[in-house]
Amino acid sequence: MAHKPATRQLADWDRQYLWHPFTQMQEWEQEQPLIIERGKGAYLIDTEGNRYLDGTSSIWVNLHGHGHPTLNRALTQQLGKIAHSTFLGLSNPPAIELARALIRIAPKGLARVFYSDNGSTAIEIALKMAVQYWQQQHPGAGPKNTFLHLKLAYHGDTIGAVSVGNIDLFHSRFKPLLFPTLEAEPPYCYRCPLKLEYPSCRMACLDPIEQLLKTHHRELAGFVIEPLIQAAAGMVAHPPGYLRRIRDLCTQYRVLLIADEVATGFGRTGKMFACNHEDVTPDLMAISKGMTGGYMPLAATLTTEEIYNAFLGKYEEFKTFFHGHSYTGNQLGCALALANLEVFQKERTLAQLRPKIAAFSRLLRPLANMEHVGDIRQQGFMAGIELVKNRKSKEPYPLEARIGHRVATAARTRGLIIRPIGNVLVLVPPLATSLVELRQIIGVLKLSIETSTTG
Ligand SMILES: *Cc1c(COP(=O)(O)O)cnc(C)c1O
Repeated sequence: MAHKPATRQLADWDRQYLWHPFTQMQEWEQEQPLIIERGKGAYLIDTEGNRYLDGTSSIWVNLHGHGHPTLNRALTQQLGKIAHSTFLGLSNPPAIELARALIRIAPKGLARVFYSDNGSTAIEIALKMAVQYWQQQHPGAGPKNTFLHLKLAYHGDTIGAVSVGNIDLFHSRFKPLLFPTLEAEPPYCYRCPLKLEYPSCRMACLDPIEQLLKTHHRELAGFVIEPLIQAAAGMVAHPPGYLRRIRDLCTQYRVLLIADEVATGFGRTGKMFACNHEDVTPDLMAISKGMTGGYMPLAATLTTEEIYNAFLGKYEEFKTFFHGHSYTGNQLGCALALANLEVFQKERTLAQLRPKIAAFSRLLRPLANMEHVGDIRQQGFMAGIELVKNRKSKEPYPLEARIGHRVATAARTRGLIIRPIGNVLVLVPPLATSLVELRQIIGVLKLSIETSTTG
């Protein structure tokens, strides 16, 4: 394809000056980068005017589509006042109003909002709050400094978040930098570590978790978990009732439940938060990705009044939470987050989503019969399709075969952007994606699987 000079120039500069995340740059330098210039609804548009369906919601952040008038207006209106002033020693209207709005929609019992800029920092803050909470609340109880988490967990890329994560490909190299944690097997039912089947297993994988809590609760500050679905693990969806049991076990053994709602929050699972599905209130909750509708980096760690109270005291008691970022409480981000919630109300986003989630399941169903589709896992408006070399034996494709990447490349030539996780194809369309667009996305995906797995 002949490129306009502007595109060719930009592509050269990209390859000359940039370093992209999660990207083998040697390979990148050999390819034509796709340079996105605009967005409209569910579509991304490149510098050549080609349109692509945004099958990843720009990595799970976009909700109401690109270029949404309410969000656009909120941003310009706030810009007319101020872009940013510090939150250290000062406050601002959008940050105040947003905190109130978030507490109104958050699981009952969460009462305080601490802002930051991305999912990883929201997790770091939760970990630090948990440790300091136990020091100040129960100083005699001995140090509760460790965390329990699931294998295949992903909570972000900063060192604390990586410490409570467990995705070998991303994390093993940094082992020397990480603090020790306790790990438990996740309920990855397709490849059950206990070789059992749901529901006859009656969630036997919870027994070793209870055992760990029983043995180690004196050292455990918290249990960090992605509620309902471990997204970056390749959409490992948890069986119903699992999260509820984890909540009850944490309460029983006095271990804080830290819910990482960074991927699942803001409607992605069909309710505002994944915890809502099982009536769970975590002690700490991290939110980010969808918080501004996919417009600006913003995050928050929500917690209970009980945890907040443990940080109160005279200055000289030094119970202050000494943590903050340059852009904490950023006005542009907070104004957008307020507008995001306004759109949820005005457009009845969650109600509109219900039939689309059902259609999503229906459209995905025929893919289950494909020769190389091993498992399809869906939670609300996010889904993972695990490709396997052999359906019967569940033998995975070797990572070197890059089957996910091959399918994604094929899909791109047909106007669909997706980003696989290893052998798992991941579909996370904007919540505003129409039925027609959804049908198109899954049609292209099916065709791309066919052409990439045969011959
Ligand atoms: C994306 C993600 C994070 C990290 O968020 P960043 O904004 O990329 O730092 C943490 N937890 C989960 C569950 C995520 O999906």
